[in-house]
Amino acid sequence: MQIHLLPNTAAAVRLTHAAGDILIIESEKVIGVAANWQPFAITVEAGQLHAFPPRPLPQEVLTEFGASVVRAFGQAMLRGWATQPSVDLAMAKVQQLTCACCGSYHKGRQWWNRDDGYGLCNDCIDDCVTDPMDFLEAGASYGVPGYHYDIDGSHFRAKAGA
Ligand SMILES: [Zn+2]
Repeated sequence: MQIHLLPNTAAAVRLTHAAGDILIIESEKVIGVAANWQPFAITVEAGQLHAFPPRPLPQEVLTEFGASVVRAFGQAMLRGWATQPSVDLAMAKVQQLTCACCGSYHKGRQWWNRDDGYGLCNDCIDDCVTDPMDFLEAGASYGVPGYHYDIDGSHFRAKAGA
């Protein structure tokens, strides 16, 4: 899975990328995932990429491209670009999770690389997360900070002294 920076969505559609590659088009605020049929946008802005209607993402897309959608979602969050409601839904609801580190209950969102029902509480972040940006790596352990764990951002705000 590679990340490609492209000048516009026209080029993203024209060029061939491996299925699952992530396409970032800064000029149009579009992030897409290359697919066998046509690249699809996970951002609200789609340009010339395929845009999913605002309903749940097709299950076959999640099955085949789930890891790519997660990484593309992280890239959109980094840039503050709105993602499609169907993608937001696919990225899981806030729920009560058990901390994988200390066993306490907390609110978070399920990360694909954690056992179902497990997450990370705020008290354990410093012990468990060495690099909050590691969600960009395939196989990252805890997901996107401020989204999957530390969902109100209080932990990292406190660390930043804000
Ligand atoms: Zn904990």
